Amino acid sequence: MSTPAELVRTTVRPEIRALSAYVVARADGLIKLDAMESPFPLPEAIRAKIADAVASVPVNRYPDGGAELVVKALRRALALPDALGLILGNGSDELIQIITSVVAKPGAAMVVPDPSFVMYRMNALYSGMRFVAVPLRADFSLDARAMLAAIEQERPALVFLAYPNNPTGNLFAAPDIEDILRAAPGLVVVDEAYYAFADASFLPRIESFPNLVVLRTVSKIGMAGLRLGYAVSHPEWTTEFNKVRQPYNLNALTQAVAPILLAEGALLAEQAAILKAERARLDDALSKMAGISVFDTRTNFVVARVPDASRWFDELRAAGILVKNLNEWHPLLAHCLRITVGTPRENDAVIEAMANIR
Ligand code: PMP
Repeated sequence: MSTPAELVRTTVRPEIRALSAYVVARADGLIKLDAMESPFPLPEAIRAKIADAVASVPVNRYPDGGAELVVKALRRALALPDALGLILGNGSDELIQIITSVVAKPGAAMVVPDPSFVMYRMNALYSGMRFVAVPLRADFSLDARAMLAAIEQERPALVFLAYPNNPTGNLFAAPDIEDILRAAPGLVVVDEAYYAFADASFLPRIESFPNLVVLRTVSKIGMAGLRLGYAVSHPEWTTEFNKVRQPYNLNALTQAVAPILLAEGALLAEQAAILKAERARLDDALSKMAGISVFDTRTNFVVARVPDASRWFDELRAAGILVKNLNEWHPLLAHCLRITVGTPRENDAVIEAMANIR
């Protein structure tokens, strides 16, 4: 009989064995500014509505496979034309996986700027696509010429563009994205996870581009715990995506809660406005500190290059603040920290702690 370890060695795909599972950092007792969550708790009146809604969910039954109430709430919140297709995912992470698996023919390529959201690369690997990384420029702007050359050479089935980009925070130039949409022979996903803070979107452009999918999430606007993402595209695409979606991918509790929050458009807009103002304040305060440079951001996080990212990370942690150290992720991110914008008080704590590091 073989041992489990021997069986794993002979059975599991080598590229999976070479991976390490994603470890989510623990944040007990810390000001949590590492994951681009909203810092705002739910107002009492909304909590009560949610409690009521959750109390009557029939959890003995499977959820609605079409998640009709969430679909309706989203279509209303986005004023989405009926002619456009909409698919929901267990977070936009799941939609990245669905979209990738739909186009992953043997030998097909995925072209992605680098550095960008790591799950694009992971899903290329899971589904056996060739991953083609096109380096960003040193200021994190898109190298449109290199992207177009890669598209010409690789003829990718899939291009992912995070708009704005994570982990760099900046918004790529819209005309460059239009050029990519025109040149790409396959699907182009414009991932607008941070749309609420970007003042820019390709959602109104879907009708102009047959190959455009706009991907979004509610994770950054106060609902990360619900796990809800969505993708809008021409319905021909949605039909295909739905074939690989798990029948009950959105659980019943999420389906009960999401419409209540999605109806609170004014509250969500007010919170986004506060975070944008706080982003400017954080950006301004950090930029004035000697030895620190802050990059342009259109998200709810700020990327700052510090003299020694590991030491700064440790000192912030010692001051009770958890951020993300991007230093090891990519050479372009050397000594960069990613700091999620928090409440005014949390941002004060960041500014004070950063000012005290020598
Ligand atoms: N896309 C981008 C660009 C992101 O930064 C994130 C979250 N870090 C996601 C997608 C995934 O979001 P979720 O799965 O929470 O919807």
